[in-house]
Amino acid sequence: MTGLSTLPVSESSSDASLARRGCPVSTLKDRLREVGLRPTRQRISLGWLLFGKGDRHITAESLFEEAMRARVPVSLATVYNTLHQFTEAGLLRQLAVDGSKSYFDTNTSDHHHFFVEGDEELMDVPAAIAVGDLPAAPEGMEIARVDVIVRLRRKQG
Ligand SMILES: [Zn+2]
Repeated sequence: MTGLSTLPVSESSSDASLARRGCPVSTLKDRLREVGLRPTRQRISLGWLLFGKGDRHITAESLFEEAMRARVPVSLATVYNTLHQFTEAGLLRQLAVDGSKSYFDTNTSDHHHFFVEGDEELMDVPAAIAVGDLPAAPEGMEIARVDVIVRLRRKQG
């Protein structure tokens, strides 16, 4: 039983670090309540799949497949609804990569993405990107955020 005293104590930053720590179910329940969502069994199960593995980018379809494999009894429609509820509550960020698919990011902090065309894979850009010469926002509007998606393809030969 040695070594326990060396565990880092991190009681602060309950906010965005939920995903990073691999939260226990009780933390997930608290987090759902904090953002005004009732911690139903389905939300807990899907939240566990979403936030239990560190930062990730996921589509409704791939989360649905994970739920099936984990024998979580949900429909694809429920997965869609839950992802949108989590997004509205600020637990996820929705990324529109192309017209057909939405990706959801468990990392809600400001960051940009690489998208590998063909593989349909989304990755975080590890560095800051300077975006200059933005257009003026139309009358009565302001720029809320700039999302950059850098599209990649494999080099030929
Ligand atoms: Zn990301």
